[in-house]
Amino acid sequence: MNDRNPAAEVVSFCSELIRFDTSNYGPDGSKGEREAAEYVASKLDAVGIEPFLYESEQRRTSVVANWEPDGCDKSLPPLLIHGHTDVVPAIASDWQRDPFGGEVVDGYVWGRGAVDMKDFDAMVLSVVRDRVRSGRPSRRPIRLVFTADEEAGSKLGATWLAQHHPDLVSDCSEAIGEVGGFSLTVRDDLRLYLVQTAEKGIAWLKLIADGRAGHGSMRNDDNAVSALAAAVARIGEYRWPDRIHPAQQAFLDELEDALGVRLNHDTVEETLASLGSISRMIGATMSNTANPTMLTAGYKANVIPSRAVGAVDGRYIPGCKAEFYETIQGLLGDKVRFEALHDDIAVETEFSGALVEAMRASIAAEDAQGRAVPYLLSAGTDAKAWSTLGIRCFGFTPLRLPPDLDFTALFHGVDERVPTESLEFGARVLDRFLDEA
Ligand SMILES: [Zn+2]
Repeated sequence: MNDRNPAAEVVSFCSELIRFDTSNYGPDGSKGEREAAEYVASKLDAVGIEPFLYESEQRRTSVVANWEPDGCDKSLPPLLIHGHTDVVPAIASDWQRDPFGGEVVDGYVWGRGAVDMKDFDAMVLSVVRDRVRSGRPSRRPIRLVFTADEEAGSKLGATWLAQHHPDLVSDCSEAIGEVGGFSLTVRDDLRLYLVQTAEKGIAWLKLIADGRAGHGSMRNDDNAVSALAAAVARIGEYRWPDRIHPAQQAFLDELEDALGVRLNHDTVEETLASLGSISRMIGATMSNTANPTMLTAGYKANVIPSRAVGAVDGRYIPGCKAEFYETIQGLLGDKVRFEALHDDIAVETEFSGALVEAMRASIAAEDAQGRAVPYLLSAGTDAKAWSTLGIRCFGFTPLRLPPDLDFTALFHGVDERVPTESLEFGARVLDRFLDEA
């Protein structure tokens, strides 16, 4: 039996994965997903785990593999471990380093996907390969899924797999993936590791106002531009009432306890400003949100157009979908209607059970000052797709981060990078986790 070193390959794999430009341009397609999938497949194949490639469309490739090592308890349902291989685009001229260079400089791996989420893909490959080589089975069977198209809403990746090949994952009872498990230093002697147990639902809306077209010099009491502008302003200025989800409450309790402060809707961001951009996310998870994002109307200054169109990015707390739509309807008024541009479910599970205990234990074993806490994510992930198959989903991609790193700002941000020490820490935590999960 070889010596164990689950972190041995994590830095090089992260770096190599970043060098595949897997930019996802949404409706304009993507590139590199097949090459990244083939790379992942080759790393699994090399240790005797058979990979299967699935393409929703040409070159939109996802990888699925079943790792059922001798010695694991095959009577248990598999654990789904999932990561996406696509990334959001990057404008190289904005960056200090080549966003697709995967350079390792000053203790960081630099590049698009370093935290979202080639870091975790690399951890999974490094850990699983090490366990195979050193003959250490996981406690239960593991289903590995590496998806395309997460960054455009998962339609050609996880959602497609869940709809067209549900049997590939529907026997899994629980799943881990993004976005969670990273540390937030709240005191010198305390790091909270944020495990995602819930995520908001998505309601991207197209707003449409129809009115009476006419000459710009005439009176017009049915002006589509005015109607739309008024509705957009009402939505943008609306103060959504607090809807504190249990995951949010647990997280706020931990923060209040650690910092000795009281947090409320109006002061949360200011109070937590020293924690970096995560304060904005915490603010956003106190309530539903709806941000106007687009406006289009007209073609000439002296012509009143018959139609004005806008868009709103709405996000609702688990359990608050009906209230969200009722409120939007009221704010729109009689003259403006909406169509759904993209609607996806909210996800939630409880922060309890054996899997959660395994998270707590594996974090505590690697960081004596670390504590796992649940939280509610304001954005969406592939978990939405898996949860439609009844799988309990957790965001758990462990990373111990330096206290001064504004981690959440790196997601889709310029100069995205991850400390090599954090990657190695994550691999060690994931390795321990697999003993008990
Ligand atoms: Zn991601």
